[in-house]
Order: sequence, then C-alpha cells, then structure tokens
Amino acid sequence: MAARRDGSTREISRRGFLGGAASALAAGSLGSSVLESRGAVIVTTWEFGPGANEAGWPILAGGGLAIDAVEAAINYVELLPDEFYVGFGGSPNSIGETTLDAMMMWGPTHDVGADGCLKRVKRAVSVARKVREETQHTLIVGDDATRFAVRMGFVETSLTNAASQQAWEEWSASSERSDAWDPEPRGSGGKVEGHDTVGTMAVDAHGNVCVGCSTNGRSFKLPGRVGDSPITGAGAYCDNEVGAAIATGNGDVMMRFLPTYHAVELMREGASPGEAAEATLRRIDAKGYRFDGGIVALGKNGEHGGAKRGWEEEAFGYAVQRTEGASRVTIAG
Ligand code: ASP
Repeated sequence: MAARRDGSTREISRRGFLGGAASALAAGSLGSSVLESRGAVIVTTWEFGPGANEAGWPILAGGGLAIDAVEAAINYVELLPDEFYVGFGGSPNSIGETTLDAMMMWGPTHDVGADGCLKRVKRAVSVARKVREETQHTLIVGDDATRFAVRMGFVETSLTNAASQQAWEEWSASSERSDAWDPEPRGSGGKVEGHDTVGTMAVDAHGNVCVGCSTNGRSFKLPGRVGDSPITGAGAYCDNEVGAAIATGNGDVMMRFLPTYHAVELMREGASPGEAAEATLRRIDAKGYRFDGGIVALGKNGEHGGAKRGWEEEAFGYAVQRTEGASRVTIAG
C-alpha cells in the first residue's frame, strides 16, 4: 500500500495499521489504565547492556510497548560517541567506510523490518522499524536503504569519525593485515577481530515480545558485506508465544545456522533459554566450525540464559532489568 509514498498523504500503511491495531489492542488504553510493569523485562547484550536497558526500561515501567523500549535501548548504544562496534564511526570496512546492519522483529504481528549495509544514516534500528511499519518489505540494503531512510526523514551524514579513520589508516598501512578474501580453513576459521552487536529483547507488561539488533559489523569487511544481524532467525528472532533470542559474534559463520530461530523453537519444545542457546551452538560445532559467538535467549516468562564459544579473552554477557531490579550475567566459557 502506497502509504506516504509521495510524501503528501497521511494514509496508514497495511503494516502500520496492523501493527498499530495490534499494539493498541495489546496495550489497552495506553497511558491511562495500564501503568504498571509486572512481568516486563528487558535484556541487552555486552557491556553497554546496563545503559541500554536504562534507556528502554522507563518505557516498560510506564506500561509502554516492548517495541518502543527496544528501539530506545538500541538507539542509546547506536548514538554513543565512543562505541566502536555499533553505530557510526568505529569499525569501518576495507575501503574505510562504516556501514550498518540492523533489524527489529515485533512479536504480536510476527513482523520484521531490517536494513543491511546502510550508509550515511545513523540509528539503523529506527530505519529498520520504518521498513516494518511503512512498507510491505522486510529487508532493504545499501544506497537504496539510504535513499529510503532519507525519504523517511532521516538525516544523511558521514558515519566516519576520528576513531574509524584512524583504525582504517592503521589497518591499511599494516603489512600483516588480514582481510576477508581468503576463505578460512574449516575447523580453524571464525576467529575474526573486531565485531560486536547490540541485541535487545523485551517483554512488556501486556505480554508483547520484541527483539532488535544493530551493528557496524565485522571490521574491514568487504564493501557490500551484510552480516547476520538483519537476517530473520540469524541475528535475532522472536515468537510472541515463546520468547526471543539474539546472536552476536562471527555472523558469516553463524548465519548459516539460523541460530536464533533454532533457539526459540527449542524453547517452544520446552528447553530453558540457556539450554536452547547451548544446543544451537553445538549444532555449529558439529559441522566443524571453531568461532567466536554467543546466543542469549529470553523466555516469555522472563527466564533468560545464554551460551558462547571462543572469546577466551573477553567477558561476554548481558544485562537484565525488571521491576525487581537490574542484574548482569557473565556467560562462562
Ligand atoms: N554478528 C555481527 C556481524 O557478524 C558482529 C558481532 O556481533 O560480533 O556482523
């Protein structure tokens, strides 16, 4: 449906209508009768998790929707000036340009918006939300994603900053630099430097489940590379009856296994979030891959857990916030 396609109509798109209707229905009369957060929870990966959750939690605490909380949490990380692996700057591709991958999945309508290799636009997860709400599509990429974002009102701006420029200059000047041209030998591959993803999952007080993620992807990737983050069931997945899962790590390997879809389906069959995460990684091990990566899963009942491979030198974990308080979980290797 051509909602706002010429910029002049306020007609609501099919997805916008369905999403909005479902949201309103699920939320009751938002802002008036529903003002409590019992059962609500937000979970975000990595060390920026506590700050991200703090950005999203007030929305859940006020009876708001999980989708708004997830967007606020991820925007917080995307706009941090010094965060290297998410958002602008930081970790550029092999020609020195920072490009972004993001997605958002909304449980009540089982609806996804995503963007890959997004250039010159910040807040990639909000662009993903626009894809979900304003179009019939699921994934939009490259310069066309930039054009779409600008049409949706986003500002076009350079994503290069001093840190990304310096990182690229040092990498380019190094005679021993590794790049992504030679396929990694099976069994020893997957140990790539420089990558992280913010992944946030939330359940709101009305029982709506949402997941989103955003990254600037693997450092010095080939131009045009899209990782696992914007791929449904790879970077993130949710089912409103079951819960959600998010992935981080070597997306080039992990996306071959749709691990977040797998984890949610295992939870549907009765696995705990931790068991489900571990079982998805075991499936990757079984094909001979050795890689750095982690899965975090959240049951609709608020139970959470995760598993990881590699990252011997790094403390991989996630942060949780709910009415009872905030906590951090470090996943043992
Ligand atoms: N999965 C991301 C990618 O491969 C990076 C990460 O989460 O570490 O683009």
